[in-house]
Amino acid sequence: MNQLLNKIALTLSQSQIDLPRLEARRILSFVCHKSEDEVALQERELSMAETQILEDIIRQRKAHKPLDKILGSKGFYKYDFIVSEDVLSPRPDTEILVEEAISLLPSDKPQKIVDFGTGSGCILLSLLAENKLWQGQGVDISAKALNIAKQNAALLGVEQQVRWINKGWFDADLPQLLDSPVDMIVSNPPYIPSQDIQSLDDEVKNYDPLLALDGGEDGLNHYRQIAQVSAPLLKEGGFILLEVGIHQAQMVADIFCQAGLHWVKTVSDLGQIARCVILKK
Ligand code: GLN
Repeated sequence: MNQLLNKIALTLSQSQIDLPRLEARRILSFVCHKSEDEVALQERELSMAETQILEDIIRQRKAHKPLDKILGSKGFYKYDFIVSEDVLSPRPDTEILVEEAISLLPSDKPQKIVDFGTGSGCILLSLLAENKLWQGQGVDISAKALNIAKQNAALLGVEQQVRWINKGWFDADLPQLLDSPVDMIVSNPPYIPSQDIQSLDDEVKNYDPLLALDGGEDGLNHYRQIAQVSAPLLKEGGFILLEVGIHQAQMVADIFCQAGLHWVKTVSDLGQIARCVILKK
């Protein structure tokens, strides 16, 4: 199907899609229900139904709908997650948080983990899939997001390890709904300053929920509230791992230190941007 792959890649590149060949392989693999390698080797014509699906995908992609939102799934850490316009698409940078969490959690005993703003569930569910002893509580203000997270829990086979709480951190009754104290809190909250939302890439601002992006005037509103709620929830010695936006690491660390936690380290992403702040109670 090399000819078809080339044709799709060319069409995508003419619409200024960044990685046309990579996406062409992904699209064809989705249409044919075959792995990307198999698709490249296969020599056959597409059926009418497959051609129609392919054309529909290309039409949407040319209009710059993100590929993962068209196909309904995105790879993150070791797994494929269901995504929709109700959740922030998992980003590769967030995998750092998962790796750091795994290295901090003891693997030989039960651990309680809370995820504030769970969205697709990609962080929490990746952790639970790593160790059957670990238990999670996923908090999200969006019932639609939790619906996706639940589907992902089933997909990864970790439903028995997780409970969902449809509340925001500004809700006064959240603390009493959580089973605490907990060993670890993880969060990738909305952190884009409101005035910067307009300058985000169209594929982000038009297809990721605003609710998952907007961090208020200085981008730090959610961290301030999460700090207030988190400090009392953590066990002595428990950790909190936060994803942060560009230039926010120091300010976020200060907010959590003022709430009584102790800074442990800040980890940079592949682009050398300080991306994950880790503190301890
Ligand atoms: N990393 C996302 C972006 O820059 C923002 C995610 C968030 O606000 N937590 O598009």
